[in-house]
Amino acid sequence: MISSVLPTYNRAPLHFVKGEGSWLIEADGRRFLDMGAGIAVNALGHAHPALVAALTEQASTLWHTSNLYHIPQQQALADKLVDATFADTVFFCNSGTEACELAVKMARKYFFEKGQPERVEFLTFDGSFHGRSSAGIAAAGSEKMTHGFGPLLPGFKHLPFGDHDAISASIDDKTAAILVEPVQGEGGIRPLPDACLKGLRDLCDEHGLLLVLDEVQCGVGRTGRLFAHEWAGIEPDIMMVAKGIGGGFPLGAVLATEEAASGMTAGTHGSTYGGNPLGCAVGNAVMDHITAPGFLDDVNRKAGLLRQKLEALVAGHPDVFQSVRGSGLMLGLVCVAPVGDVVSAAYDAELAIVPAAENTARLLPPLTITDEEIAEAVTRLENVAQAIQSKESVAL
Ligand SMILES: *Cc1c(COP(=O)(O)O)cnc(C)c1O
Repeated sequence: MISSVLPTYNRAPLHFVKGEGSWLIEADGRRFLDMGAGIAVNALGHAHPALVAALTEQASTLWHTSNLYHIPQQQALADKLVDATFADTVFFCNSGTEACELAVKMARKYFFEKGQPERVEFLTFDGSFHGRSSAGIAAAGSEKMTHGFGPLLPGFKHLPFGDHDAISASIDDKTAAILVEPVQGEGGIRPLPDACLKGLRDLCDEHGLLLVLDEVQCGVGRTGRLFAHEWAGIEPDIMMVAKGIGGGFPLGAVLATEEAASGMTAGTHGSTYGGNPLGCAVGNAVMDHITAPGFLDDVNRKAGLLRQKLEALVAGHPDVFQSVRGSGLMLGLVCVAPVGDVVSAAYDAELAIVPAAENTARLLPPLTITDEEIAEAVTRLENVAQAIQSKESVAL
């Protein structure tokens, strides 16, 4: 008999009932160190006092009005994002998937209004993830996500990750945009080298294409800059944001230049909940924290500390771990042992980590993690490695 919750997830046998900072408390009382942060969502950890205050204050004042009216919290958050980034304008939605939907619509509308309605195609990359809507799965294109869900939304060309020549050769008079994650998340924490991101920007400029970045996972301070593309010194035309921006409250956004957004006039897009007072109250508090002087410097310092400790862990256990990769506090442990075994052994060690493609375990801790918690996480990973090694020696 089907479960009352649609069985689309393979869930771990864990039931968390409370969160405190970097810690998750299981129904049985065990305290898990949370190195997953709800898949890079709880950017300021669990139950951060500033976010709790922002949400409860807004909850006792006004929850929802719809976008029939002005929403001051939404205006404030848009102003903050415009001040802090390349963008001239922001649309708010409730998830990364919805951000992808608008990014695709906006790029197509841009060329339509420019009198080039044939430019509808997106170049996207192997291993990418852009959400589970019809546009999102068509953009990613993997068999795993698209199987049985045809006909797929047309207009996406899938290319090998980071193969500049293949990308260049695929551009024709139907191409509208290049859509890419600066650091692939679900794909196994694969950073696109800065030179490659610069190369994509150059290609877009050369051919009059839009560069659309998916920073749903790697954005909002995760890599040690407010947005990951800043490391490459380039700017996109359109950018998708979600996950960390709401700190755990469902919130997404599409940021764009005035030029790229020029086709999106009144009536061309909308959302009932998008940019509601609750989500934006929390989003404002998240942005205030992440852009406060010194916050990202501290993220970078801690990222260096975690990476150094992980390099030592990998060197000490070459039969369990192969390498560390990623950027800032978005790190991947490429495993030799099956990543499923590593993640289960981590649960046994009361440590939450997140599996990804390419046999990689993701470490995406709250950006507020302390030095002591970083040391504790690596100690627990040492125990994980030892547990896997002793299991393997028994099996031999
Ligand atoms: C999670 C994710 C999405 C989808 O976001 P949802 O909020 O789950 O809809 C899109 N792109 C990337 C890169 C993501 O990591």
